[in-house]
Amino acid sequence: MSTEKTTGEPVETHQHGGVHHTHAHGHSAHAHDYVVPELPEAVDIFDTILRDGSQQEGLSLTVDDKLRVAEQLDHLGVTYIEGGWPGANPKDIEFFARAKKELTLDTATLVAFGSTRRAGVKSEKDEVLANLIAAGAPVACIVAKSWDRHVAEALRTSLDEAVAMVADSVRYLRQHDLRVFLDAEHFFDGYRNNPEFALSVLAAAEEAGAEALVLCDTNGGSLPDDVGGAVAAVRSRTSAQLGIHCHNDAGCAVANSLVAVQAGATQVQGCINGYGERAGNTDLSAAIPNLSLKLNIRTIPVDRLERLTPVAHHIAELVNIAPNPQQPYVGNSVFAHKGGLHASAVARSADLYEHVQPNKVGNGTRVVVSEMAGRSTLAMKAAELGLELDGEVIGRVLDELKHLEHEGYHFEVADGSLELLLRRASGWVSDFFTVESFRVITDHGARRDAEADADVVGATTTPSPAVLFGMTTEATVKVHVGAERVVATAEGNGPVNALDGALRGAIGPKFPALEHIHLTDYRVRVLDTGRGTGAITRVLVDSTDGEHTWTTIGVSENIIEASWQALYDSIVFGLLHAE
Ligand SMILES: [Zn+2]
Repeated sequence: MSTEKTTGEPVETHQHGGVHHTHAHGHSAHAHDYVVPELPEAVDIFDTILRDGSQQEGLSLTVDDKLRVAEQLDHLGVTYIEGGWPGANPKDIEFFARAKKELTLDTATLVAFGSTRRAGVKSEKDEVLANLIAAGAPVACIVAKSWDRHVAEALRTSLDEAVAMVADSVRYLRQHDLRVFLDAEHFFDGYRNNPEFALSVLAAAEEAGAEALVLCDTNGGSLPDDVGGAVAAVRSRTSAQLGIHCHNDAGCAVANSLVAVQAGATQVQGCINGYGERAGNTDLSAAIPNLSLKLNIRTIPVDRLERLTPVAHHIAELVNIAPNPQQPYVGNSVFAHKGGLHASAVARSADLYEHVQPNKVGNGTRVVVSEMAGRSTLAMKAAELGLELDGEVIGRVLDELKHLEHEGYHFEVADGSLELLLRRASGWVSDFFTVESFRVITDHGARRDAEADADVVGATTTPSPAVLFGMTTEATVKVHVGAERVVATAEGNGPVNALDGALRGAIGPKFPALEHIHLTDYRVRVLDTGRGTGAITRVLVDSTDGEHTWTTIGVSENIIEASWQALYDSIVFGLLHAE
């Protein structure tokens, strides 16, 4: 790190794996004399999916998953990846050990998370600090209480000891050649309640050699004005790098992070896709483009911004949580336009209807087609797919769409099936495989081996009815791939699962791309309930190849037939785009 003076403002240059980030802190050189700051030229992006993000309900990552997520974050070009809390769980110790051997990071630096030493314990005797050193990551991010009430009620120690814990821990880690960031937990609540104590925690960390002081809105309830004011006040008292770590409980995490940067923070912590406990952490998928495209502040390398959407979707895939279609910048629906008039105006001048050019973040404008759509919308959709359909064909497709939507199809939510329909209208024929027949048998058998199964599962687990009654579903699919006739059978936990397994068994060997394509969601809706079991069933299947997702549809009086249609379209669509 070198320090040089330009226009009276300290400028620090950090080197991260060959990429230079320059931070102009943008505060007055005169201490205690805050002036409206200039925006920094660049901020460091710090992703904490692997630590804080993993606190999300239902999100659980194996060490392999964590390594894959880290690779994606590095591919995107974040500055720091917080890998976990070594010592808090064995998985994180293993992660750091394997990361050392298996991860080659290009832009990112790995960070290990921990806490300060415990109250009344010497640093050299403290296990948490020992684990941080043993993790072997070049940076340690340690959390400290900065709200006096937490010191009294959670730590049950004195404020002086709380400050000493910070100073001792930072100094100890610095002596072991670690770069140190301090996460000031509950900083904004603490600053409101007892600013003197909150600031003394930061001062102790800085004096002991902490490189970044990270102000955390741990309860996530602060509003932008509070955050901006507090960051500005801290900015005027220190020349250390300031970071911002927000939770989204008041729906303000991204806004609070932007305000903090405008007040002088140059490290933004959060998670791609905004994962985290309760309402989540700052969504970096929104914070990054807001900073880069709207405030003109460098975040990830400029030429990698277009990786944002694919990486966000890939990570959603790895953590096994369906992407939110309405997620700003990267959601599937956020540049989708519906309705004839509106959609044709978008085609003429997109900037009238879109806040940024979607391709800048790797997303795309999408025309949504429904029975409400007119010829022009359909023609645009065809053009979007690179299909040339003349007026007569468009007219026929429109008639077919109306007919199918009347039967219960809903193409607005089934982009995959719509694309196949348009391609077929243009004369395209799917020649991957042809289906001779399929069959599904669900066997609701006797109470076989129920007790034995229960033993295996364990006494505390209630076996599912499928286990208790030995219910199995088996599907057989007969297809022709080229000149070859293939028959395959698979078992599954339900008809779709079994059919999917059988179809993959039959054609998988011929189409290795199938390995990367799988179903992520399956939704059934019964239409026209007045007809009881004779009602129409609509099935939607979501699929992904790891980067793109698509939805296909099937409609029938028979739920298995409807499922098959959706499944068939899903596989054909996947194979078509894998080519
Ligand atoms: Zn947090």
